[in-house]
Amino acid sequence: MIKNKQPGQQPDAPAKGPAKGHIKLTSHPSQRDAASPVQWGAPSAGARGPVVGAVNDGAQRNVIGAHSGSYSIYRALAVAAGTLDPVHVADLTDTAPAARIGPYSQWADVGKIVSLDPYGHMVSEVFSEQLESGLDIRPTIAVTKARVNMPEIKEAMRKGRLEADGDLLTENGDVRVTKAAIEPVWYLPGIAERFAVSETDLRRSLFEHSGGMYTELVTRNDLKLFLPPIGGLTVYCFGDVSAVRDPGREIACRVHDECNGSDVFGSDICTCRPYLAHGVEVCIETAQRGGVGFIVYNRKEGRALGEVTKFLVYNARKRQLGGDRAETYFERTECVAGVQDMRFQELMPDALNWLGIARIDRFVSMSDMKYDAITGQGIEIGERVAIPDSLIPEDANVEMVAKKAAGYFSEEPEPDAEQLKVARGRDLHD
Ligand SMILES: [Zn+2]
Repeated sequence: MIKNKQPGQQPDAPAKGPAKGHIKLTSHPSQRDAASPVQWGAPSAGARGPVVGAVNDGAQRNVIGAHSGSYSIYRALAVAAGTLDPVHVADLTDTAPAARIGPYSQWADVGKIVSLDPYGHMVSEVFSEQLESGLDIRPTIAVTKARVNMPEIKEAMRKGRLEADGDLLTENGDVRVTKAAIEPVWYLPGIAERFAVSETDLRRSLFEHSGGMYTELVTRNDLKLFLPPIGGLTVYCFGDVSAVRDPGREIACRVHDECNGSDVFGSDICTCRPYLAHGVEVCIETAQRGGVGFIVYNRKEGRALGEVTKFLVYNARKRQLGGDRAETYFERTECVAGVQDMRFQELMPDALNWLGIARIDRFVSMSDMKYDAITGQGIEIGERVAIPDSLIPEDANVEMVAKKAAGYFSEEPEPDAEQLKVARGRDLHD
């Protein structure tokens, strides 16, 4: 039998226990008085309140969904398989951020950040009292330090474009970075506003098009936060993260959307990895001049259409009559996916606002959608850095010509109809 809590019933104390016995639905509005609502955009962490998303915390929960984005499903599987204790509470000893990020004025601006929790890395610090009282508050952001080593950076050193400085960049090509992993936390009224839709329509679409996965989206209007089961993002910082506070220090940035085929495996049908590596090079140069560089890496594979759709499009592009060519590049995507792009750059500037960025001196991207989203948020952009021609793989010419023709930023004139016909990709079996 499935049982709802009755109106006026006190929350279970403690609200923790193994997933046995009755299923407790959280969809009943009678629980609304138990949890402390979050005051999104409040001037301080204390006034804003903690995001309580741990599923064991019963009536204390003030969100819809579960922590860890898409990985929440693996956690559920681990509990079902008996390998994870369902009441396990994270021991956060020594997990504090390895570098100080924020707080910045953007954190308290309800229009600036709607898709992540700006205090997500600081929960042990700013909500220590609530943690001590037994509330299960989990970090949604983690900040650490590492060294990265990329063959393209070693190549840039060999060719004399970069030089070791013994600190940021070593002789053997190791680069010191500070990196932050960010899980999505959506403030639903703010997300609705970004897309100029009503919160009701947004909630209904999220409910219906996830197969009815989160009933609270349509039954718990009092819960304004949603932890969506999607990928998050990673920020790689080159140089001093706090340099953004100093208007005299240069800022470089590339906002990169995941492309596993190129980024990891070196597939040559697109320019993703070469452009990413060029972005890292620009970030290192900028940091060596006393500035700071950021790579914001979004988990939005294949324009957020997913890799299956992406590979279907590759086949359709290469098998079409006349072969793979720039003039039909966007059209083929739309035939398969229904749209050309689902990345929604509207939410992308949130990470930049979290980092305290108010201007970007060198923006390493040719995308007008990204440019417009960032400047639309009031972040100034100085120079735009296109990918150097020498870094474009031959089979990626179709993509590059199609994008330039569609208005992507380039210092060269837009390709004409003739050039669109000329750019050809390799045959599928070649
Ligand atoms: Zn790619």
